[in-house]
Amino acid sequence: MSTTHEVIDPATERVVTRVELAGLEETDAAVARAVAAGPAWRAVAPADRARLLRRFADVVEEHREELARLEVANAGHPIGNARWEAGNVVDVLRYYSAAPERLFGRQIPVAGGLDVTFKEPLGVVGIIVPWNFPMPIMGWGMAPALAAGNTVVLKPAELTPLTAMRIGELALEAGIPEGVLTVLPGKGSVVGERFVTHPDVRKVVFTGSTAVGQRVLRGSADHLKRVTLELGGKSANIVFADADLDAAAAAAPMSFLDNAGQDCCARTRILVQRSVLDAFMERFEVAVKGVVVGDPGDEASQMGPLVSAGQRETVRGYVEGTGEAPPVEVAFRGTAPDGAGWWYPPTVVLPGGTGDRVWREEVFGPVVAVLPFEDEAEAVSMANDTEYGLSGSIWSRDVGRALRVARGVEAGNLSVNSHSSVRYSTPFGGFKASGLGRELGPDALDAFTEVKNVFIATEG
Ligand code: NAD
Repeated sequence: MSTTHEVIDPATERVVTRVELAGLEETDAAVARAVAAGPAWRAVAPADRARLLRRFADVVEEHREELARLEVANAGHPIGNARWEAGNVVDVLRYYSAAPERLFGRQIPVAGGLDVTFKEPLGVVGIIVPWNFPMPIMGWGMAPALAAGNTVVLKPAELTPLTAMRIGELALEAGIPEGVLTVLPGKGSVVGERFVTHPDVRKVVFTGSTAVGQRVLRGSADHLKRVTLELGGKSANIVFADADLDAAAAAAPMSFLDNAGQDCCARTRILVQRSVLDAFMERFEVAVKGVVVGDPGDEASQMGPLVSAGQRETVRGYVEGTGEAPPVEVAFRGTAPDGAGWWYPPTVVLPGGTGDRVWREEVFGPVVAVLPFEDEAEAVSMANDTEYGLSGSIWSRDVGRALRVARGVEAGNLSVNSHSSVRYSTPFGGFKASGLGRELGPDALDAFTEVKNVFIATEG
């Protein structure tokens, strides 16, 4: 049975539209259509499937501005970011459009015959998307899944379904056959859970919180489903005394304020070598106060509101304290608009130590904590003192040290003198509680295929 859900603009708190949510019946019907569409989709000649994916990319590109504006209204992302996000879907579709013609198997030398391997599609892939980056995360799952010959059912987050629904329509416009990609807005506890329990869904790609990721993994055991999990993070930004401090301080704000801090890769723990702590903080304060927080539709905005009132309350609790937890010392803050909208200012805090909640837990808001370290060994040990392991940055002019530390930090995506984590052509994913498996890059295709070995006897 379906119900409706109000989609709200986080910058104004106005209702943007109402969306019909799928229930169990609609989910089962969509999975049945995906199963039915499978044989014809995998039989499409490789060059034709490649052409269809390129056409899909072209159509998304033609609608890039429309999609970006939709994301501004639905998720409160600054327009510049939203354009990048729509463009990322285009890039990822183009990148994987090369795959249908390059999914090579092997010929393996054996006695008595010919042995060959094939990379076969899995069948129906269920993709569960969170609210923080609706378009890119949709693309990262959908593009390699379709390229490898799978069919897809995809559930956007309740709060941010609009761009995914539109991209689903654009797929049909581009000629992707009916049933090959179905977007099902709905609740996690209904549609998401059904992807996990449905015997015909062969793989679940889940991006979201660690708690729900664990639930997905447990539930998938019943049917031995393949699973990719992209979960939370608490990444370290390590600044050594020999770093270009101006560059490190200038880059640090957007490493935790991008998407108002609702970013699994956010560098939310800054570790600064003690001898340069004051010099770094002086520069960092100027940079944080210079970040433009405001109307996400304005070209100058660098940071918009949080996605919901609930998310803002959670973030506020980390800084100002809750019934059980005390407040944390605020070093300095940027500004945020007053009035309607779920705004929260960029906030830099000084925890009492590495045991503090704000140092250990994922805040998922514009809050960063700063602590000093003495030497390289302590920096690595502090960086690794977390259940998470998604990303991180190292700032140093000593390439040897930077590489040693990058090798020492237990995380999937590290950058040196940069905060860049995501490129469509390189692998993305987490160590430890940050996830399971990798998305993007050439290897992600393996996560959407099974290897089949065939032996043909050539001797009587
Ligand atoms: P969430 O785990 O509550 O929800 C994510 C998605 O899962 C939503 O679509 C939701 O409807 C669905 N869901 C909820 N309960 C479900 C269930 N029982 N079964 C199946 N699906 C269910 O997370 P969120 O609040 O939307 O997103 C924020 C979290 O996601 C943060 O912790 C963040 O770090 C993490 N995240 C990680 C990455 C990454 O790539 N590693 C990317 C984005 C977000």
